[in-house]
Amino acid sequence: EEMQGRNIGMLMPEPHRSQHDHYIRRYLETGVRRIIGMRRELTAHHRDGTPIELELSVAEGIAGGQQYFIGFTHDITARNRAERESRLHLSHLAHATRIHAMDELASTLAHEIRQPLTAVHTTAQAALIQIDGGKRVPEEIEGHLAQITQQARRASQIIDQLRRFLRRDDPQDLSDHHPSVLVEGVLLLLTHRMQSLGAEAHRSYNAAECRVQVNRTQIEQVIYNLMDNALDAMESVDGPRVLAVATCLSGRNGYCEISIQDTGPGIPDEHMGDLFTPYFTTKDRGMGLGLPLCRSIVENHGGQLTAENRPSGGAAFRVSLPILPGVRHR
Ligand code: ADP
Repeated sequence: EEMQGRNIGMLMPEPHRSQHDHYIRRYLETGVRRIIGMRRELTAHHRDGTPIELELSVAEGIAGGQQYFIGFTHDITARNRAERESRLHLSHLAHATRIHAMDELASTLAHEIRQPLTAVHTTAQAALIQIDGGKRVPEEIEGHLAQITQQARRASQIIDQLRRFLRRDDPQDLSDHHPSVLVEGVLLLLTHRMQSLGAEAHRSYNAAECRVQVNRTQIEQVIYNLMDNALDAMESVDGPRVLAVATCLSGRNGYCEISIQDTGPGIPDEHMGDLFTPYFTTKDRGMGLGLPLCRSIVENHGGQLTAENRPSGGAAFRVSLPILPGVRHR
């Protein structure tokens, strides 16, 4: 009743409010539909001016020779809030598990950085002694300088990778990557843990030309969790400990696959159905959040995460992700 005879524009925020009459006129003159027959999300106003998130669809009709426009509005504030909250929740959860991983990473850092830095130091000293001693063997000194540069670069790569991993990220922050580069970055963080377990990494990158558009921190988080679980699993076996990482085009057209396989005891049949249930863990200090988190991150990227046992023993986890156009399926 309050609205009767008044301009509907009053329910809209600027710039639509002042443009509304123009929109209608343009439609009546040109017949080009910009909103009619479509569904659109927008922010409108309550009577008191507070914003309200709406889904609006507009239909038109003629009755008694008169043209009518009919607007259907649906309040989506709650739906949008729930979506925002679940995104935020995911980001908090990812951060919490990253923090959980920090113990491991801090010791990796201490160990990994000490090695290249020691190499930088001793090589620089050797070069200085040679220069000091007046021994002019330029090739040797060149070799030392190359070694210094290479080791210093490795040290800074480790630091960069660690900082990227621990950063709190913006869930919407997408960028293009080769899956194998993401896998390598995470392997770098786990070098120390692998060494102390006597585990070997076997790599097989068969989708080198593929690129995926992902939130780097989140996908690295997934790969980290899967590798960390694989190493946990292999801790309990005495045989060879092999972490097999691979990338390939998936059987599903338009997708690539990252697989992480181990030579641990595998997943008992009775646990298969529970793996992705929050808080399911068989570890004393486990949180049981890693796999559910990984699955929701991967699904948010339009992909899938699956688990199975390998015929030769051990577990295999596969992450499939949509690839960017430009690579044809073979
Ligand atoms: P958490 O590592 O804290 O236990 P996860 O959700 O990452 O939580 O894993 C849940 C459970 O899944 C683990 O406790 C373990 O029983 C099982 N699991 C995960 N990865 C493997 C694997 N590679 N091999 C065998 N079991 C695994």
